Amino acid sequence: MFCSFTDSRLTPAMRDAIARAGYCTPTPIQAQAIGPILEGRDVIGCAQTGTGKTAAFAIPLLELLTRADSPHAKRGAGPRVLVLAPTRELALQIAQTFDLLGAAQGVRTLVLIGGESMGPQLAGLHKRPDVIVGTPGRLFDHLERRSLVLGTVRTVVLDEADRMLDMGFAPQVERILRVTPLDRQTLCFSATMPREVETLVRRHLVRPARIEIGVSAKPVAKVTQRLYKAPTQDKTPLLLKLLGEDLGRTLVFTRTKHRADRVARAVGAAGHRVTRLHADRSMSQRREALDGFRNGRYRVLIATDIAARGIDVPEIAHVVNFDMPHTAEDYIHRIGRTARAEASGRASSFASPEEHEQLRVIERHLGHQVPQH
Ligand code: AMP
Repeated sequence: MFCSFTDSRLTPAMRDAIARAGYCTPTPIQAQAIGPILEGRDVIGCAQTGTGKTAAFAIPLLELLTRADSPHAKRGAGPRVLVLAPTRELALQIAQTFDLLGAAQGVRTLVLIGGESMGPQLAGLHKRPDVIVGTPGRLFDHLERRSLVLGTVRTVVLDEADRMLDMGFAPQVERILRVTPLDRQTLCFSATMPREVETLVRRHLVRPARIEIGVSAKPVAKVTQRLYKAPTQDKTPLLLKLLGEDLGRTLVFTRTKHRADRVARAVGAAGHRVTRLHADRSMSQRREALDGFRNGRYRVLIATDIAARGIDVPEIAHVVNFDMPHTAEDYIHRIGRTARAEASGRASSFASPEEHEQLRVIERHLGHQVPQH
């Protein structure tokens, strides 16, 4: 077990970086994962976002990259760590964590995601990054045009593996794994463990350490969940009422991009600082929206599921399911946006009569009813 960040398995520079990031004690997944990763073992981690899982792999991998005696240490030899993530936003956040903890130690991290032009990515590759974080589609494109060679990779991380497979990325993930060395270390993190993820693990991981945090696929305990039964036409007034009562940062999920736009217009017209995040917005618009939400320029962010996957904004006070998600996994992921790490939060779900079946499926999975307001 890795119970303290003053553990002698970390170099003083790494301990300093962790202290500068403001992390005092390892979260449960960090306590369990850091040791096996430092030993070079494969790891399968069942953990939700908000548990500190990004740092659980970033800390030991950065440690290996900066240690002179580790096979990861060959500077300038080509990438030694490759992280695959389902969405661009999650990839950017993972890279931020690597930069936060590793940039001062000279570790260079490059992001390779779709929706951005190739030029800067190719220039970034010429600078020989140590860590590459990317989405499977764009990584695959780089492999096809031979701008990316993965023969030096020592560790591959598959983050949110369930979501990557759900999104149909299995062929790209398989191809990427095939072109990395066989004796690599493989780490797989997933909020849920469907059969597809188990198959992937059986095929590509060698005697992995199994780490499970909390009961798998159950929402973070600190979230206060509330259900509002409301016909579709009453949802916007209900949202405006809740926004008036609770002044914290609020993340609202809608089913479609079109609805996200419409709800954002209504919320803006009511005088709230609001922005939108969905797949029809350009990369720079999305960044502006997320940065603005993070730094407080916007108090309300209206988003669709895919776009908001994995976004990490500290202190989201309130998550609103304006539309019910389709699966229990999505519900858990959405409400996991609030009550991250140490904070606690609130999740309100609006269910119209047409959505009651979805609600029943979610409640069956949770094992309890969502308390009604
Ligand atoms: P993640 O599960 O990786 O999305 O992390 C959730 C949040 O927890 C992020 O905002 C991290 O900055 C924060 N975090 C990660 N590790 C720690 C720690 N040991 N102590 C406090 N906060 C942490």
